[in-house]
Amino acid sequence: MAAHLDFVKHNEKYVSSFDKGHLPLPPSKKCIIVTCIDARVEPASQLGIQLGEAHVIRNAGGLAEDALRSIIISQRLLGTREIAVFHHTDCGMLTFSTDQLRQIVKDADPGNTAVADQVDKIDFLEFNNLEASVKKDAAFLKDNPLVLKDTSITGWVYAVETGKVTQVV
Ligand SMILES: [Zn+2]
Repeated sequence: MAAHLDFVKHNEKYVSSFDKGHLPLPPSKKCIIVTCIDARVEPASQLGIQLGEAHVIRNAGGLAEDALRSIIISQRLLGTREIAVFHHTDCGMLTFSTDQLRQIVKDADPGNTAVADQVDKIDFLEFNNLEASVKKDAAFLKDNPLVLKDTSITGWVYAVETGKVTQVV
């Protein structure tokens, strides 16, 4: 059964006690969290982030480079001044190479040159060391001229096995 078939039922329950319609657009903690799409990662409960407090930018791996477009919008238009990058243990990004994934996509559609041309343009930005990837992303943000100079930048690892976060940067 498709997950979406339950959306309305669950939403009706949510709406019945909803009282946060007054929240302003800019996040009150002026904070951006960059994290992975992993289904076991959930910043609201794991970090105590409440509705309206932070921007949570998610992509495969929680990579700063991939999040840059949203970071610029968040900082320049909505006033955020802090970025926390979270990568996590057992991340799918540790399990493949860009060449392998390109081949999987091509093999699924043999002879389709449009697919081959497009996928060859994508760097999937995989990594092989969790702590090193967090440090790399923090450095990327610190060095990037499009990120505001006075931004507080931290880097973290979240352990899916224990639920514990550890600051790396
Ligand atoms: Zn992940």
